[in-house]
Amino acid sequence: MNLTAGNPLGTVAYFSMEVGLEPAIPTYSGGLGILAGDTMRSAADLGVSMVGVTLLHRKGYFRQHLNSRGHQSETQDSWNPEDILEPMEPKATVAIEGRQVQVRAWRYEVRGLSGHRVPVYFLDTALPENTPWDRTLTDHLYGGDNHYRLCQEVILGMGGVAILSALGFKEKLIYHMNEGHSALLTLSLLESQCQGAKGSIPTEAEVEAVRRQCVFTTHTPVPAGHDQFSWELVEQVFGRDRTALLEATQCCVDRSLNMTYLALRFARYINGVAMRHGEISVGMFPDYPIDAITNGVHAVTWTSPPFADLFDRRIPEWRQDNFYLRYAVGIPLHEIAAAHALAKRALLAEVERQTGVRLPEHPLTIGFARRATTYKRPDLLFADLERLKAMAQRVGPLQVIYGGKAHPRDEGGKEMIRRVFQAAAALGESVKVVYLEEYDMALGKIICAGVDLWLNTPLRPQEASGTSGMKAALNGVPSFSILDGWWIEGHVEHVTGWSIGDDSASPGDYSHDSDSLYDKLERVILPLYYGKQEACTKLRRSTIALNGSFFNTQRMVYQYVTNAYSLSERNYLK
Ligand SMILES: *Cc1c(COP(=O)(O)O)cnc(C)c1O
Repeated sequence: MNLTAGNPLGTVAYFSMEVGLEPAIPTYSGGLGILAGDTMRSAADLGVSMVGVTLLHRKGYFRQHLNSRGHQSETQDSWNPEDILEPMEPKATVAIEGRQVQVRAWRYEVRGLSGHRVPVYFLDTALPENTPWDRTLTDHLYGGDNHYRLCQEVILGMGGVAILSALGFKEKLIYHMNEGHSALLTLSLLESQCQGAKGSIPTEAEVEAVRRQCVFTTHTPVPAGHDQFSWELVEQVFGRDRTALLEATQCCVDRSLNMTYLALRFARYINGVAMRHGEISVGMFPDYPIDAITNGVHAVTWTSPPFADLFDRRIPEWRQDNFYLRYAVGIPLHEIAAAHALAKRALLAEVERQTGVRLPEHPLTIGFARRATTYKRPDLLFADLERLKAMAQRVGPLQVIYGGKAHPRDEGGKEMIRRVFQAAAALGESVKVVYLEEYDMALGKIICAGVDLWLNTPLRPQEASGTSGMKAALNGVPSFSILDGWWIEGHVEHVTGWSIGDDSASPGDYSHDSDSLYDKLERVILPLYYGKQEACTKLRRSTIALNGSFFNTQRMVYQYVTNAYSLSERNYLK
């Protein structure tokens, strides 16, 4: 099958500031990058013609160290691209502050199930021709100040367009901007439409010609999450002529360049990453038509070995066609229980290896791992420690496994980690809490699969989608989550997990949410876990059948092909 080979538009050029391809390539910080990696894996499986573009991030994101009180410190996570990637010969140039900065690319290949390849190009400015400062521009993911960030976005967007051309991608490309970081690619496309007539005002026809080539996925429902750069900075980095062209595009609000507006203005198709997020985005940007395509995860990547073995035996078609996971309903319950027990044992072994703590196998084990940041509220579970202790005593023991890094400058996120450590100390032996360092793809796969229950407590409506609960679902781990992002769609009470709070339009409330969390944990989840083994396993099975079969990137990429990439009239949103 080759979904876009016959498409007159040709190849999809997928641009993303972060990409999670494998644990040895630390060029991602969280869900956005994992989504990019999973998208390319599924595109390769489906035979979609796609090429990825990102930055090399030679010094990675960072390595996380936590002291005994949960204080996070960071060191560089340098890696050797030379060991994994193939250097490309052709180079490209981008202008930054009047300097001609040389860019080269390193190639990685994502190989699909039947051998179809999706190349990923990592852009690199560490070349002797460049000034010492320019050489650092592809070092740090989300490092440095606004100036550094804007220069990085020039490399990603404009350098990316130039390198694809240098590498011989001559056919028409569909440019997919995964979040606004790469929106400057539209400036390059516009300049080639205007034939380099610098400073001139682009005609509507020229703007339309760029729009026909671009697709934009927005990822954050929080206005502060959108990149903005001051006009002084824009003039400094771009010079007069380009700044005038940018100004003519009307993407500047309050004397600053807003990358989201730039992407919105030049995309023929725009989407949010879950149904609710689509609605919220329409509210934020009422002048634009915004669709929604709900995120997924790459099923084969995120299924633990015990469940992969089980699916291979019972529904062997699942790798090739994830819809077959629907037929997990026919798998005997004892086989589901046995696979889960193996995944749990693997997790507990990893906990012991990393922390020296030997957690018992029997207690209800709750998992919480994701970027540590304030809105995700990792401390909601600890709103009332006495109540938590009392229910563990009265109904049955529970233990909790945490993981997640805070951005080095996110003081609120760092405080969240310290609060988890404080709660762990206060709870002592009555509810054991461990926090694993260095949450990454490899650890994520083990945690999501090995716990009994996946907890997610974002402050509504800030979770655009969330994907770790989808990884859990593939492994028969139900979610216990705030009704936000994907969970509004994935939640079937007592069939795929449980809700925390309600699905009202009003913003979430801490004490209301924590009350709901405690009530349900005490009255529904713990009693089920300790009293009704078979019902519990049935719930694992229905979680796989209902959510594993749908919340995967295979279904998601099908939807992008149908709704975004193919040039049907409907996809050319007015
Ligand atoms: C899946 C994943 C995420 C995303 O988790 P959310 O629950 O969507 O926030 C972040 N980091 C890593 C390492 C992951 O594997």
